[in-house]
Amino acid sequence: MLQITGLTHSYADGHKAIDGLDLTVPDGQLLSIVGPSGCGKSTLLRAIAGLIRPTGGRITLDGKPINGVPDDLAVVFQDYSRSLFPWLTVRDNVALPLRRRGKSRAERRAAAQEALESVGLPDAGRKYPWQLSGGMQQRVSIARALAFRPSLMLMDEPFGSVDAQTREDLEDLVLQVHRTEKMTILLVTHDIDESVYVGDRVVVLNKSPARVHADLPVGLPSV
Ligand code: ADP
Ligand code: ADP
Repeated sequence: MLQITGLTHSYADGHKAIDGLDLTVPDGQLLSIVGPSGCGKSTLLRAIAGLIRPTGGRITLDGKPINGVPDDLAVVFQDYSRSLFPWLTVRDNVALPLRRRGKSRAERRAAAQEALESVGLPDAGRKYPWQLSGGMQQRVSIARALAFRPSLMLMDEPFGSVDAQTREDLEDLVLQVHRTEKMTILLVTHDIDESVYVGDRVVVLNKSPARVHADLPVGLPSV
């Protein structure tokens, strides 16, 4: 369980991005987080990922305070251009985090290939990231996170740079992985339709600084 209490964050220039945010996310939930641009969504994810140290409040994962990047976490950022290592092939990029899982080289390669197939890039493994389009690079980032099979996955506008059809395919892929792997996923999006389609629950943040404005369970209409 992820538990956030009284989270506050002010950047070094004094800008307050988050102000007293409380949020509890049970294991296995797919939580969509929506809110206006600049309201502090990325800051929130960065704090959960241990990439910044918040100036106030408390974040615990299974009761333990976050201290550095948690072992069992994967993050997919909107900015794909900074997330892949340009000197590694696509397959090696996807396979790299699996070393932390103690997988053999052969297992890592097989898992990477499977993940690339699941995001619709079966033939991209031998290429380098810079030989792919932006949308394809973002799919590689998603493949890398999926192959790792983390217990917690943070996604910051992950589908912002892909075309509409790929976006739908990837939304369905994330839903499927969430269901089969029981992965806890926090998905930041500014697309209300996406938040409701993919999420079990939608949290709406206030305009800056971030606080929880509304917390809505999502029940899909039965057909
Ligand atoms: P987003 O797409 O999530 O809204 P932004 O465009 O706000 O992201 O920010 C992009 C990058 O610039 C982030 O790494 C963020 O930390 C940094 N950044 C944003 N605003 C500022 C600022 N006022 N001062 C310094 N860095 C900033
Ligand atoms: P969102 O992801 O909701 O667009 P962010 O978390 O990126 O919002 O940013 C929240 C606020 O904090 C914005 O006003 C942004 O300009 C500011 N900000 C982000 N990064 C920095 C930074 N490194 N230094 C100063 N201000 C920042």
